[in-house]
Amino acid sequence: MNPRILIIGACGQIGSELTYKLRHIYGNENVIASDISYSNLDIVNSGIFEIVDAKDYASVKTCVEKFNIDTVYLMAAMLSATGEKYPMKAWDLNMTSLFNVLNLAKSKFIDKVFWPSSIAVFGPTTPVDYTPQYTIMEPTTVYGITKQVGERWCEYYYNKYNVDVRSLRYPGIISWKTLPGGGTTDYAVEIYHEALKNKSYECFLKEDTALPMMFMDDAIQATVDIMSAETDAIKIRSSYNVAAISFTPKAIAESIKKYIPEFEITYKPDYRQDIASSWPQTINDSYARQDWKWRHKFSLDDITNEMLLQLRKTYK
Ligand code: NAD
Repeated sequence: MNPRILIIGACGQIGSELTYKLRHIYGNENVIASDISYSNLDIVNSGIFEIVDAKDYASVKTCVEKFNIDTVYLMAAMLSATGEKYPMKAWDLNMTSLFNVLNLAKSKFIDKVFWPSSIAVFGPTTPVDYTPQYTIMEPTTVYGITKQVGERWCEYYYNKYNVDVRSLRYPGIISWKTLPGGGTTDYAVEIYHEALKNKSYECFLKEDTALPMMFMDDAIQATVDIMSAETDAIKIRSSYNVAAISFTPKAIAESIKKYIPEFEITYKPDYRQDIASSWPQTINDSYARQDWKWRHKFSLDDITNEMLLQLRKTYK
């Protein structure tokens, strides 16, 4: 039997593509998209869409009951760069929304929860190369703090209340359909837009800032895989490291130059450099690869090829 799915934050960068993918797999009628506003008309008009405020328990519960939902993907959050501007708002949204969904599962209104964590759970004292699953975690951004605390609560709800919650520590996600929503890795999306529009890009990170990244298709596949894995296969109930590739602004610029030789990049680091400098450069995701057979597909050049191909169509 197909799950009955509610996606909260479905208008965002990841939530939108997750909506399309889950509808393709489970059928339009089984996947309800929701967000706080009608900010993405493609999503609003593509199937059942509801206004849901993730911070309001009653709002989420009403939607869950109305559509007989058993599985919730909680994609609403305030991301790293925006969170530094509004720390208390980030704390409030990221924690309240998670508790609302975990408590719905604890009270048996729903059976299963997906909640994304992030590489932002790591901090400047974490080993930066091949960062292990279990290591020092002292995040210095409010966003990272909410994700790390969120992981602890997910594991707690699993241990104490048997809540089937599953989570991934996404790296920076690169996609062309929906623009990113205020993260530190947004440069790796903006750069492709600017390469096509202006043949140049001023990067807000230094040229040698290596960060873990992943193409959207890989991120969605990882999400589908962990959620469809047998319960016994999920051994980590905080959040799994998942990795694909890692690159610097200089390397992505070189990759773009293979397709647009006249492309030029300049560097003007801002406050986001401090955030990026506190994060790992590469991630060890061996538990995900072992437990539920995670494999990524897209290399940097694959991503560049696909981004330029798709964005060219969009700009035409
Ligand atoms: P996004 O900012 O693009 O989208 C978030 C969506 O949540 C928006 O559509 C917004 O309108 C909605 N929202 C905000 N407040 C809400 C509320 N009160 N109720 C309902 N909806 C609300 O974010 P994203 O990039 O799609 O990220 C999705 C999840 O993945 C987040 O938890 C984020 O922390 C995590 N993540 C993202 C990345 C990335 O590179 N994009 C990396 C690591 C982790």
